[in-house]
Amino acid sequence: MPWTERQAALLQGMGLRLWSPPLAPVSPPAAVSPAAAPVAVAAVPLPASAPALAADAGALDWPALRRAVAGCRACGLCEGRTQTVFGVGHPRAHWLLVGEAPGEQEDLQGVPFVGAAGQLLDRMLAALGLTRAEDGPQPPERRVYIANALKCRPPRNRNPTAEELASCAPHLQRQIELLQPRLILALGRFAVQALLHSDEAIGKLRGRVHRHRGVPLIVSYHPAYLLRSPLEKAKAWEDLCLAAGVAAEGAAP
Ligand code: URA
Repeated sequence: MPWTERQAALLQGMGLRLWSPPLAPVSPPAAVSPAAAPVAVAAVPLPASAPALAADAGALDWPALRRAVAGCRACGLCEGRTQTVFGVGHPRAHWLLVGEAPGEQEDLQGVPFVGAAGQLLDRMLAALGLTRAEDGPQPPERRVYIANALKCRPPRNRNPTAEELASCAPHLQRQIELLQPRLILALGRFAVQALLHSDEAIGKLRGRVHRHRGVPLIVSYHPAYLLRSPLEKAKAWEDLCLAAGVAAEGAAP
């Protein structure tokens, strides 16, 4: 996406790097540069009590998966939810963004990232020419699908437990299988726990390319954290630029 002069001046004024897609085809995804090489991460064991939902979710198409999530009672979070929050975006989007869990607004509206954190996320995506819109003229490489590790709101927005993440994991995994994203962006520590089974700090994991079942995965800060720590926005922007570079490599012929 070419930057307008105004956007470029704004970003440079903030001391932020500009990102533009590579002009020539670059190396295939397997040949990731050493700085961006996939890494192994410390494993967080999943609880043995994870429900036998994976086998059920594993064969579902989009509508059936959405229905399964809407009726899910695999963990106690179903008791307090207004509704489940399945995900939003085009089913062929090249990017998958994974957050933590619905907050109050998301629980009320049934859509992920609609509160203040979501608005910041949308602005950052728009700066890269990306959209969560389900319709419109954008090609798949300009679209993101947004989902959460948990589909139900934890009471008073408390942190998800390992058991809840494990209960909900088959839903996210089936979303990934159906979407077949070219790139996953894991936002915050609970998305990282769900996808990489790691409890390392985001600061230790960001800045390089991980893999989730073969799909390149970039780790970044959760937008709610960025609202509390605005000085970290520059790092989150760097992460988005890294992700855009990896996505462009994946899309190269
Ligand atoms: N935070 C998240 O992680 N997900 C949402 O949908 C909203 C806030």
